[in-house]
Amino acid sequence: MSHLKIYNTLARDKQTFVPMEAGKVRMYVCGMTVYDYCHVGHARMMMAFDVIYRWLRASGYDVQYVRNVTDIDDKIIRRAVENNESIHALTSRFERFMDEDTTALGILPPTDVPHATEYVPQMLSIIEQLEAKGLAYQGDDGDVNYAVRGFDGYGKLSGKSLDDLRAGERVDVNTGKRDPLDFVLWKASKETEPAEVKWDSKWGKGRPGWHIECSAMACALLGEQFDIHGGGQDLQFPHHENEIAQSEGAFGHPLANVWIHNGFVRVDNEKMSKSLGNFFTIRDVLKKFDAEVVRFFILRAHYRSPLNYSDVHIDDARGALTRLYTALDGVAGDGADLDWNEDHAQRFAAAMDDDFNTPVAVAVLFELASEVNKSKSPVAVRQLQGLAGVLGLLERSPQDFLQAGATDAIGEAIIVEAIAARAAAKKARDFAQSDKIRADLLAQGIVLEDKPDGTTNWRRA
Ligand SMILES: [Zn+2]
Repeated sequence: MSHLKIYNTLARDKQTFVPMEAGKVRMYVCGMTVYDYCHVGHARMMMAFDVIYRWLRASGYDVQYVRNVTDIDDKIIRRAVENNESIHALTSRFERFMDEDTTALGILPPTDVPHATEYVPQMLSIIEQLEAKGLAYQGDDGDVNYAVRGFDGYGKLSGKSLDDLRAGERVDVNTGKRDPLDFVLWKASKETEPAEVKWDSKWGKGRPGWHIECSAMACALLGEQFDIHGGGQDLQFPHHENEIAQSEGAFGHPLANVWIHNGFVRVDNEKMSKSLGNFFTIRDVLKKFDAEVVRFFILRAHYRSPLNYSDVHIDDARGALTRLYTALDGVAGDGADLDWNEDHAQRFAAAMDDDFNTPVAVAVLFELASEVNKSKSPVAVRQLQGLAGVLGLLERSPQDFLQAGATDAIGEAIIVEAIAARAAAKKARDFAQSDKIRADLLAQGIVLEDKPDGTTNWRRA
């Protein structure tokens, strides 16, 4: 009997998790479209499902975890043409960068990483099944579209009614769609597009739409019905709604039993977006902060809550993680295996079984750390390291972290303040003071560079 409860978006309720096959979990998560660097929102998504994957494994399940790579898409084609390079050169480069970022953050590789371009025959097969059932048609422009009005369950995941959805849409006269909500399954090739993105089909040369990619990869690797489907909250509509329409329309049974969506990332309480200029790639963040600190920062929030990204909050996470490592400095565990019957471990497990409640699980780590501080008990040390390891934390030697932490201990907010104080000292012609501020920062590994326009840049040495 499973103790695990998961919030299922489809049911709008926390439910006891029952796998389709005893001891086995099949999970599909929508992965990256690889044409640019991953940002903090992507890190949060991959981290959320990394923790879910780790907890399912720690609970004894054999987990098949599929996270796809979208390597064919309008944005990819546009970027490759701009860069004057092949689609494959572009996507393989950014997939490599993604792998570097996820490895740095301690995100385990999924068991399967399918690429959309390798599953085009499977996509065409589903589209043919939909056409045979009257759920797909080819428009005048050559595109093959999904006929949303033919699928009764449309809107059940996002809780939207077809009428509400239609009210917000207008038929685009430039497409061959019969209904504004119909979406493209197969895009007819245009003359100008590179040969690399043209596949043969019974409807003529073309390429897949984004939604059909996931239906095909999920079915090919996990079967027509599986346990868990996940992704970012922004994918609920239309992407996941369309996946359901495609798979359930073609196969005639539910696509996934449990739908899991992680929350948004906000920056200083605003939506993160390129236009607001508050947009951070994982690489930007890892230049400033230790990767484990970033991991810890993300795990301190529940995966469904909005995550508020700010340097002050990451500095705070660094301080907290330093307290855990400091507790472990100079003490050793007894070498035994983690004891799940021990009180802290039981409470940790109860938190994780409650919809992967990492903030409560992390609080249990702090209780263990204060016990280690008090008693230096080798059992408490072992339990702390063992439970933290389940979350991918505290896996370095304390000296290692605390030394890295020393050069990294000063946060951006403090540096910016010091630079402003130095500018004020210079303005007051107090050069002794401005030199002292520069020397103090340098002693903490911060190098200042004065620019000709009077501003000062900084970097970590
Ligand atoms: Zn998807």
